[in-house]
Amino acid sequence: MTILLSTLNARYAHASLGLRYLLANMGALQEQTSLMEFVIGAKTVEVVERLLAKKPRIVGFGIYIWNVEETTKVVAMLKRVAPEVTVVLGGPEVSYETNEQEIARLADYVVTGWGDITFPKLCGDILNGPKPIMKIHAGVQPPMADITLPYTLYTDEDIAHRTLYVEASRGCPFKCEFCLSSLDKTAWPFGIDTFLAEMETLYQRGARLFKFVDRTFNLNVKTSQRIMQFFLDKIAATPDDPVYAHFELVPDHLPEALKATIAQFPPGALQFEIGIQSFNPEVQTLVSRRQDNAKAADNIRWLTTQSHAHLHVDLIAGLPGEDVESFARGFDQLVALGPHEIQFGILKRLRGTPIIRHTEPYKMVYEPYPPYAVLATDRIDFATMQRLVRFARYWDLVANSGRFAHTIKVLLGDSPFANFMAFSDWIYTQLDATHRIALDRLAKLVQAWLQRQGMPAADAAALLASDYAGSAHKPAEKTTHAAPERQVRHLAA
Ligand code: SF4
Repeated sequence: MTILLSTLNARYAHASLGLRYLLANMGALQEQTSLMEFVIGAKTVEVVERLLAKKPRIVGFGIYIWNVEETTKVVAMLKRVAPEVTVVLGGPEVSYETNEQEIARLADYVVTGWGDITFPKLCGDILNGPKPIMKIHAGVQPPMADITLPYTLYTDEDIAHRTLYVEASRGCPFKCEFCLSSLDKTAWPFGIDTFLAEMETLYQRGARLFKFVDRTFNLNVKTSQRIMQFFLDKIAATPDDPVYAHFELVPDHLPEALKATIAQFPPGALQFEIGIQSFNPEVQTLVSRRQDNAKAADNIRWLTTQSHAHLHVDLIAGLPGEDVESFARGFDQLVALGPHEIQFGILKRLRGTPIIRHTEPYKMVYEPYPPYAVLATDRIDFATMQRLVRFARYWDLVANSGRFAHTIKVLLGDSPFANFMAFSDWIYTQLDATHRIALDRLAKLVQAWLQRQGMPAADAAALLASDYAGSAHKPAEKTTHAAPERQVRHLAA
């Protein structure tokens, strides 16, 4: 094979959309190009051996924050054993601050930004000459209609076993300084008829789980409605063969027409990921995030009470200007709105994002290595930030997992942040770990914590037994949902 497109995905279930776009747009070179995906944690030597077994002349790697360290080792080894193979990098992690990166130093070429037409052109020049002189090639953004959609490249195996990523648009018009999409300045839609025709083909081939990567799905309400109607029609036609769709929404933009469409979805068919990030207006201003907090809260409340959508809402700890008290207020406010999951992330300084301007004034200290998480700010010292990191991890295990759906309400009481922080600090003293915790051990510790808070042992045991975690030994009930397991647990609660 002349050209190999490769990446290390975070999980096997994540099929790389970026690589499939490149393959779909290779033009005359497509027949000489193939994909080879790996998963983080693969042995470097095995990755290199498998790539070289295909005898490629060019290997293109997709580089992301989660795979840059491991891919750096792959590229280093590959260039040592096969220096004649040309290595081309692309992807968000190498699109900014390119010259500062070891992986870029090791590679022959880097395509920054959009690779759809620039990568195939570069490959043509490498193979047929004249040999490109410049190492870094700024990706040219073509009209959206010129980009060949990649969905036929999902194999039957992908459709059966992996999450299918799809996008009806690229980019975002907002400018939140911590986010790479803030550099886009606008959003560009794909032709909706062509896109829906591709979705129809995927559906007919058996696809039932669609994850939209559009940054702001509800930007154009008419388009959002057409896409949602596509799924509603499928559900109406075959209610026993459910379909499931995941969208990212901006929280303060939910016109009545869109609400009416959302309200028609049955349970287990729809998931929304909603970024709140911070409820603190001063912090929002500092990071240039435009958000009407009252409207956002109203919309989340409407979604939790009037729709069956599963809500996954994001908050970020460690933003400039945010101290623990203000974060705690936002957290409690969000808990009161009742989303199914709160994704509590620690700020990361993504390469190229404008948040860097706050580094000095707010004494932001970041990890020097990916994922460049914030370690301390002028408002949150290092030790406290680590407590927040553990809080986030235990929150995921206990609250977001859906395994303690009844118990968590009691555990949080009237002061969710303070109560869960106390639990998090205590459970860490018992476990000395935040990973690889067996569910029955976790359940026992949650029960022990409730008893320490004064709950009679029999009541605590009964409460735990009412949850999935307390009955984890029972065989799982058969489900008719296409939704991922975690959402099904929330539905069962
Ligand atoms: S955080 Fe969301 S709304 Fe803000 S720039 Fe990024 S994608 Fe757009």
